[in-house]
Amino acid sequence: AEEALRQAQKMEAVGQLTGGIAHDFNNMLTGIIGAIDILKRRIASGRLDDLERFMDAASTSAQRAAGLTARLLAFSRRQSLDSRPTDVCKLIHSLEDLLRRTMSESIEVEILSSSPTLPPALVDANQLESAIINLAINARDAMPDGGRLTLSCEEVELDEECCARNPGVAPGRYIMVGVSDTGVGIDGDTLDKVFDPFFTTKPIGQGTGLGLSMVYGFAKQSNGLVRIDSQVGEGTMVKIFLPVADMQPHEAPAESAAIHHGDG
Ligand code: ADP
Repeated sequence: AEEALRQAQKMEAVGQLTGGIAHDFNNMLTGIIGAIDILKRRIASGRLDDLERFMDAASTSAQRAAGLTARLLAFSRRQSLDSRPTDVCKLIHSLEDLLRRTMSESIEVEILSSSPTLPPALVDANQLESAIINLAINARDAMPDGGRLTLSCEEVELDEECCARNPGVAPGRYIMVGVSDTGVGIDGDTLDKVFDPFFTTKPIGQGTGLGLSMVYGFAKQSNGLVRIDSQVGEGTMVKIFLPVADMQPHEAPAESAAIHHGDG
């Protein structure tokens, strides 16, 4: 029953948000309709000066509406993943420069890989990149006074017991990508909610509350999982587990040009 209540409260929050978006969208449409009305009346009465102002107003409103729907689509579209065997360690190393630039001066960036030769993970590299960047931004926000951001990768084995608790995850070999910080940490009550869409503790305008729910959705869709270990005042480590790509001989050409063609 408690779960049902929680679910209902979540739906209520989503309802409020949807209402807010519908309201904003409606305001934009009202702006467009209003500008077109004025244009029509002006044209009918032959007052052709200064029409551009109203055309611009209509166009600006339409562009804002298009921007809003694009953002909504980007969020709601659980776009089909383009999963391929990916060298995850190479990928995290390739993000090093970008992360250094994104973090503040007082944050040290460190990349650790347990072994230079990890097997590839079966994952959509672009989605993994954006997940890591999301996590790194959370880490930065958790370290206002500076600290250390560490990206790591290692191969781990998930056993039957772990997988029984995580439907959709099969026992076997996984690549674990870790994003950890030495920041403020997350208390137990908050930790229960961090994956909920729109849950945020950040000031209005700074947090969307969508970062971790997107990371969660991405991991699930990749047949993997996300874990968070956190200690208040010590820091947080988010771990994404991605299945190792067990390449069958007939899958080997997946990285060849034949499959890549048409990518643009
Ligand atoms: P947002 O970052 O927009 O708030 P997220 O879904 O990414 O949305 O995160 C939800 C909440 O989880 C954050 O508002 C914050 O309270 C908490 N959180 C996430 N990552 C960390 C972290 N590394 N350290 C401390 N708190 C975190």
